[in-house]
Amino acid sequence: MGWKPMPVQAVRWALLGALFAGTAAAAAAAAAPAAIPPADSLPVATDARLGGDETQTRFIMDLDRKIELRVFTLADPYRVVIDIPQVRFALPPQAGDSGRGLIKAFRFGLVMPGGSRLVFDLVKPARVDRAFVIDAAAGVPARLVLDLAVTDRDSFLRRVAAEAKAARGEAPAVSAPQALSADPRPLIVLDPGHGGIDNGTKAASGELEKDIVLDFAKRLRQRIEKTGKYRALLTRTDDTFVALADRVQIARNAGAALFVSIHADSLPRKEGDAEGATVYTLSETASDPQAARLAEQENRADVIAGVDLKQEPDDVAGILLDLAQRETKTFSMQLARKLVGEMKETTRLHKAPIKSAGFRVLRAPDVPSVLIELGYVSNKQDLQSLLSDGWRDRTAESIAAAVDDYFSAHLAGARTGAN
Ligand code: ZN
Repeated sequence: MGWKPMPVQAVRWALLGALFAGTAAAAAAAAAPAAIPPADSLPVATDARLGGDETQTRFIMDLDRKIELRVFTLADPYRVVIDIPQVRFALPPQAGDSGRGLIKAFRFGLVMPGGSRLVFDLVKPARVDRAFVIDAAAGVPARLVLDLAVTDRDSFLRRVAAEAKAARGEAPAVSAPQALSADPRPLIVLDPGHGGIDNGTKAASGELEKDIVLDFAKRLRQRIEKTGKYRALLTRTDDTFVALADRVQIARNAGAALFVSIHADSLPRKEGDAEGATVYTLSETASDPQAARLAEQENRADVIAGVDLKQEPDDVAGILLDLAQRETKTFSMQLARKLVGEMKETTRLHKAPIKSAGFRVLRAPDVPSVLIELGYVSNKQDLQSLLSDGWRDRTAESIAAAVDDYFSAHLAGARTGAN
């Protein structure tokens, strides 16, 4: 495939580090990617507010000290992104849910250790007139100020292109490739969905998908490693955002034998009640409208976090890839069936537990991949399960058993030359 193996963290840091090129945060983060400052030494954002109208809009965020910032814009949908060093956000609970003037809504959170981000969804194309941080003075706290002014689509797109060009020039060199692990055991990459600035779905009682699935993935890793037959690797081990294409790339670069993405779903109240776990595989046409809706929602993770989709690598290229994918698809389906077979012993399944749709995170052409929706946080009983230690352990155990079963069948098949 022409993919050079590379240490997973290096890939991730090269990709994410590019976003921070030119800032103090980038230098600090690139030098010591694992060093997350202790929480009590972080700058604190204490309040945020919007002013103005659809011609000119101002965003102000109060801080306890001055920080560096880098601002850029993204199109389709129109967004303004501000990257800052890692900040502890102590903003009012509803901050960003609704907007004003040119700003429809905004989000904030961690995108990498040492780096936080603000993402503004725009009502229409807008130009960044000014973006700066002023020091505290005369009893007024330090403030981050963003001034937006209405513009037209063409000017907006020109600005985006100019910024992208400048960013490419600043991108840091990727460190030297490293050999793949000498450990011959199959590697299973576990992918807890969302993270950092992207919360995923949210229970009425406040629990976040990103936290549920991270804990679950860690338990699953433990179960898989306990067998002694496999290695397991998480695409994220903390509350950090990872772009969808990076998740796929982590699996491919590490030489994964399987990729399992872990999520939790929810159904808006007006659409009734749904319950139980579902296993998804990749398909160009969704198995049903609900699967299509879900894939669209999960694929929005990058938009939510302010990733420029145009800079993501093109996943689908030519017939060779298609052929490779055919075998991968067969294997993915085999795993999905084994998962459902094992999981039905420990947890409620959705009435149609195997579905397919165009999930971007399942697009590795050479790594069998599935996405498990553990249940619906919108369903009372499912949520109770999702939040229970006992349920998480039992379900992780059954998924590990299915993975083991999948490999046993494959290794047996390899010996006899059959599938
Ligand atoms: Zn999700």
